[in-house]
Amino acid sequence: MTKVYSFSNQKGGVGKSTTTANLGASFAYFGQKVLLIDLDPQAGLTQSLGYDPNSLVNTSYNLLMEKDYDYKNALVQTAVSGVELIPSNLDLAAAEKELIGAVQWDKKLYNALKKIKDNYDYIFLDCPPSLGLLTMCSLVASDTVIVPVQCEALAMKAINQLYKTVVEAREGNPDLSARFLLTMFTHTQHSKEIVDIVRNELKDEVFFEVIPRTVSFADSVNAGEPLVTLDPKSKGAQAYLSLATELLPKEITKNFQTV
Ligand code: ADP
Ligand code: MG
Repeated sequence: MTKVYSFSNQKGGVGKSTTTANLGASFAYFGQKVLLIDLDPQAGLTQSLGYDPNSLVNTSYNLLMEKDYDYKNALVQTAVSGVELIPSNLDLAAAEKELIGAVQWDKKLYNALKKIKDNYDYIFLDCPPSLGLLTMCSLVASDTVIVPVQCEALAMKAINQLYKTVVEAREGNPDLSARFLLTMFTHTQHSKEIVDIVRNELKDEVFFEVIPRTVSFADSVNAGEPLVTLDPKSKGAQAYLSLATELLPKEITKNFQTV
């Protein structure tokens, strides 16, 4: 059965879009068919996969707001075989307003995905850096929310705020689970302290794998391709490939060699 993950944290720059792209590429490495949907009007994911948001006419805005919209109109390919994208652009900023007062607004994405799900093993939703209506739509449509947490002060404060939104989303989606991913780790005392605090608070909900801070992620954005396929042997790519093995069923990953 197709699984849907949201990548969410109301803080910007914590690694949501980087994780969406690189975990998507890692799942594809293990033979999974993945659809990424950019739900951020700022379109960081769309740009990092080589598309100019301003040149796009059909986007996730249409998928969300138009009843019976054929998602294939908005679908684009990525440099990664097995990973497709529904991009976004600033049109989506209007959705946040238009959703207010719309009938069953929080179910709109959930309903739109029903018709798409059969075509993919996994659908990844890259959320905007806010806890607004778009994020709520995304959480209601998801099996699991993956929260990238930057290894820096105040990480727990952001997590606690986000948890309230998760509890709210569970009113419409009782089975929604939450997992936390430590990102941008440096071998400093400060980074290590944050890791300890987050692990103490959230225990098993925190992934074992920690994503290191490395400039190669910025290089891959410039190349329009996830680091996982651009430079599979790099430290950053290896971290996302191992994260994928934490999430995917063992019977899928066991026949693959690590790169
Ligand atoms: P978000 O989607 O949460 O706003 P991004 O994934 O766009 O965050 O990351 C913000 C910036 O940090 C981007 O320029 C990205 O290339 C960079 N970045 C992301 N993850 C890492 C990392 N592990 N190490 C170094 N830079 C990173
Ligand atoms: Mg982003």
